[in-house]
Amino acid sequence: MKKIFLTFLLSLVLTTPVFAEVNVVATLPWIGSLAKEIGKDKVSLTVLVKPNQDPHYVDAKPSMIRAANRADVIMYNGLDLEISYIPIIIRSSRNSKIQQGQKGNLDCSQYVNPIDRARADMDRSMGDVHPMGNPHYHFSPGNILRVAEGMAAALTELDPAGEGFYRANFEAFAGKLREKQKQWSSLPISGKRFIAYHKLFEYLAADFGFRIIGYVESKPGIPPSASHIERLIEDMKKSRPDGILTTSLYGKKEAESLSTKTGVRVILLPNDVGAGKGTEDWFSFMDVTLKSLQ
Ligand SMILES: [Zn+2]
Repeated sequence: MKKIFLTFLLSLVLTTPVFAEVNVVATLPWIGSLAKEIGKDKVSLTVLVKPNQDPHYVDAKPSMIRAANRADVIMYNGLDLEISYIPIIIRSSRNSKIQQGQKGNLDCSQYVNPIDRARADMDRSMGDVHPMGNPHYHFSPGNILRVAEGMAAALTELDPAGEGFYRANFEAFAGKLREKQKQWSSLPISGKRFIAYHKLFEYLAADFGFRIIGYVESKPGIPPSASHIERLIEDMKKSRPDGILTTSLYGKKEAESLSTKTGVRVILLPNDVGAGKGTEDWFSFMDVTLKSLQ
């Protein structure tokens, strides 16, 4: 009888649904995707910015502040990418757990080696929206691996009982990434030369050995002038790049017009996880991106 009762108790434990331990609010889709890889069913997740929104320019909505109010941790890109909304959201959340310096405030860029840090005398008023260094490191496998490890550590701090779980999920993520890296490094991308609309692909270029030889924007965040475009067209006619890289979010129209004038093809890449077909997690987002560059 006692044994039957114990079996009953055990089955009750095993069938009880697992309730999320950590309420994660992530600014960008790729951050949410990583948090799910590491936290799985131990995290409940809210992502603030949609894949079809330009992450440089987002309005802090009341729904975002409400989500932040209930968060155990807020995870964001950093390097000033979300400067126009993340400080307001955190300040207005009235949630002491997610304030700067607390363990519920995770700036993912702390695990990143930023490239393209601007000179000290430059700032956003001079037109460059990236004075802290290029913030688009979600295209960089090496940096993403360190961010994922940082996330596992952060979730463990918030939920110490889950330490082994988060560590194991990180190890699985790292293992899958090693496999993917083998596939990705065999793609014929190295040595190619591209024009890009925005400074979005610098990490990708550094990691996969291609070059960005010109930009459609005059400066990051500044639309091109007519004279800049004229010069670019002349340059492209001589240099014959392998493509014009942009996303459907911004720069598509300009890239297409440039393509018509130069005969160089447009390559539309997803800007984030969930932007376009077959990009539902970070791995498939990278698959689509890299295969498009061939
Ligand atoms: Zn940018």
